[in-house]
Amino acid sequence: MGEWTDEYDVVVAGSGAGALAGALAAAAGGRRTAVLEKTGLLGGTTAYSGASIWLPGTRVQERAGVGDDTTESARAYLTALLGDGPAALREAFLEAAPQVVEFLEGDPDIEFEWQAFPEYYDAPGRTAMGRSIVPLPVPAERLGELAALVRPPVDRDRAGLSHDPSEPLVQGRALIGRLLLAFANTGRGDVRTRTALTSLIVEDGRVVGVAAESADGPVRLRARHGVLLAAGGFESSAGLRAERAVAGSAEWTMGPDGANTGDAITAAVAAGAATGNLNEAWFCPGILNPDGRAAFTLGFHGGLIVDGTGLRFANESLPYDRMGREMAAARGPLHLIFDAKTEAAPAIVIPAVAPEEHLAAGTWVKADTLDELAAKIGVPGTALASTVERFNGFAAKGVDEDFHRGEDLYDRFFTGGGPGLVAVDEGPFYAARMVVSDLGTKGGLRIDPDARVLDAADRPIPGLYAAGNTTASFTGPVYPGPGVPIATGMAFAYRAVRHMAS
Ligand code: FAD
Repeated sequence: MGEWTDEYDVVVAGSGAGALAGALAAAAGGRRTAVLEKTGLLGGTTAYSGASIWLPGTRVQERAGVGDDTTESARAYLTALLGDGPAALREAFLEAAPQVVEFLEGDPDIEFEWQAFPEYYDAPGRTAMGRSIVPLPVPAERLGELAALVRPPVDRDRAGLSHDPSEPLVQGRALIGRLLLAFANTGRGDVRTRTALTSLIVEDGRVVGVAAESADGPVRLRARHGVLLAAGGFESSAGLRAERAVAGSAEWTMGPDGANTGDAITAAVAAGAATGNLNEAWFCPGILNPDGRAAFTLGFHGGLIVDGTGLRFANESLPYDRMGREMAAARGPLHLIFDAKTEAAPAIVIPAVAPEEHLAAGTWVKADTLDELAAKIGVPGTALASTVERFNGFAAKGVDEDFHRGEDLYDRFFTGGGPGLVAVDEGPFYAARMVVSDLGTKGGLRIDPDARVLDAADRPIPGLYAAGNTTASFTGPVYPGPGVPIATGMAFAYRAVRHMAS
């Protein structure tokens, strides 16, 4: 056995919301805790996010008077979506939701508010305007030197820029910033950036520490109470994606460049862990950007999407994971067609690139007629013309007879209340190349309700816990509503740390 480089009670791999919530719970509970982050910045994909958090039945919704949010309505909703089958993880999540929020808001640096954002399915238990909560923005000055450690928004990060010094940290940056500040203020936490977990150290069947590669060379860190793996999924590994047949590509994922390559999953599997859901991700439509990466695209308020034959194939306004899945099943190449009325893509695009840059790069094309546009994107001109004509007829009537776009309250949330069917009839016309993107994979380590990692015989591996996209999400192929990825990560990390103490 080698020497320990350092000794902790709890070692957490990763620094997204689950990781930091778990680390804070451990440190606030009096335990010396290390956060290991592979890159130089904290927060991973969580930092890019809108930080909607789908934690039902908490004091935050109660404060806001969101009367249709209760644990019971959330249970009914999840049951309608996921079925009556084994529900132990679902129940553990529902139980932890109010508890983790109460714990976090007990810290003076953490505060949430409710934010309207409808859930993604018309099913029993659905709320009228959503039940997600978000962190309040935080001024960078409040974080002091820690602010520079928080990963900037995706547009700036991909451009190699840090935070805009004139702006407070908002959304995912506020969540990571607040959790980091609270963790640092416990005085019992170490943050070790540029330190990548490489393997787990097992003694007599128990995980007792981790081996990691740091900027100064290899380290061995002891974890007396447990190791929490919350190091994202494998969305940035082309090899693992291909092996597990995950739609989309490592280039088109929204995860930070090269960060989430499944290291924690691989390390745990080497220690005997079982996996599940390995072909799953939180999918979304992506506009292909000139740099070859994708931009998360949601909330369409115009345009239509056609497949390689020039036909529509789905309701473009579907919640993004559902539209991403439709796109994965469609025959490519896929294009968003819009016209001179908007020029920019009629949707929320993160990160958006200027139309001129797209046109120069050829990721968008422009033409005076639909026929010319069809020729430029390689689809039959007659098919595109009749698709657009039919769609324009629906726009005139305000009813999409083919795919029911604009009928669900989610669709209308982004269109100012109307159906969002806008005729494409004013040249020049545009076609933007669309690809299947994702907000992270969600297949990985199988866990029990206390987030203990299970082996192939369903036995917990002592000392080993996991949360977030490192695990096989209990939601399987379903994305129930805004904030489920982050919420489930936080709830199971919290349960893990609580279990370590027991
Ligand atoms: P991450 O947050 O990606 O964190 C993983 C971290 O682990 C990374 O920092 C990575 O560098 C590190 N790591 C990887 N390997 C190692 C290793 N070997 N050792 C140490 N560290 C390692 N979800 C929501 O719930 N609500 C939203 O509002 C929302 N909005 C989104 C908006 C955008 C634009 C995007 C891109 C995503 C959004 N998502 C949202 C999705 C959500 O952000 C992610 O799915 C979720 O945050 C993943 O959390 P995680 O902790 O599993 O991984």
